[in-house]
This record gives sequence, structure tokens and C-alpha cells, in this order.
Amino acid sequence: MVELADEYMMGLALGEARIALDKGIFPVGAVLSAGNEILGRSHKTMLSNHLSHAEMNLFHQVFKGDYTFSRADDLTLYTTLEPCIMCFGTMLHLPITRLVFAMDDTYGGCAHTRLENAPPRHLSRSIEIVGGVRRLEACKLFADFLATTREEFWLTGGASHFRATVEAEITAHAMQG
Ligand SMILES: [Zn+2]
Repeated sequence: MVELADEYMMGLALGEARIALDKGIFPVGAVLSAGNEILGRSHKTMLSNHLSHAEMNLFHQVFKGDYTFSRADDLTLYTTLEPCIMCFGTMLHLPITRLVFAMDDTYGGCAHTRLENAPPRHLSRSIEIVGGVRRLEACKLFADFLATTREEFWLTGGASHFRATVEAEITAHAMQG
């Protein structure tokens, strides 16, 4: 269920994504909140490092030292793109109870990975997942990135599923006027 603060928090995540875009980096931004309190915000920081995703940067920023966060703290992760397997898995491992993302990632998104066969730890800890919050705005940033990137991966047609989703969204929006 979309909550009141979701649009606002996603706005902050979109701001982070724009910072990445301005540096020519794939524009993903992320925010972590505890209720209405913002604990941290980050964006993807390197072109060619698969560990420097927005969510991982954010996790390192917030969960450092002997932190005392628990699942009772109402921690929500906001991200402008559905998390990949690394970020989704790390989120499951952290005391985060809610995930809100803007754009679905038809290439590598793992938010809807089925966990029926997961070990007991992950069967007993459910997470609420909400997708599509400010999706079009996130999508426009990805479209801007795809139109301007010099990265070999994208120039040679990488992640064609993702690219098709972005193009379909932009086309649908254009047709709506
Ligand atoms: Zn990731």
C-alpha cells in the first residue's frame, strides 16, 4: 500500500538519481527512512563497479559499526529502480521491513523473486513491497541516460529488456500528450 510519505521520499531518491545522471552514471538513487525520519540517501557512484549501486552505498552509509536498528524501527528503502539480486539480498539481510521502488527492472530486478524455497531465516521475515511510485519520473531519467551514455555496455545494446521498458513508457506517455 502506498503511504503518504512515499511520494516525498521518492522525490529525494530521484534527486540522488539526478546527481548520478549529471556525472554520466546510470541514474539510480536511494533513500532509507525510519518512519518519517531520513536516515540516509545515496546514488550509484561508479560506471564500472558492480558493488557501487545506490542501495549498497546507502547501506554502508547507514549500517556502520554496531548499529541497533531492528525490524521494529519501520525501516523503508526507497529506490528509483527495482533492486538487483545483490541489493535485494542485502536488504533481506538487514532489518528493513518495507521496499518502495519507482521503476521495475525487467532486465535484472529481483523484488519479486520467489522465496518459497528460501531457508528459514528468509521464510519468517516478510517485507512489504510497493512498486511504481513516481515511475514516469524515474523512467525519464533512464531515457536521458540512454540517450547520452558513452558506456560500451549500453551502446552495444546491453539490457535490451530494460531499454524496451523505458522506451515503451516514454512512448505511452508521449501518446497521452
Ligand atoms: Zn543493486
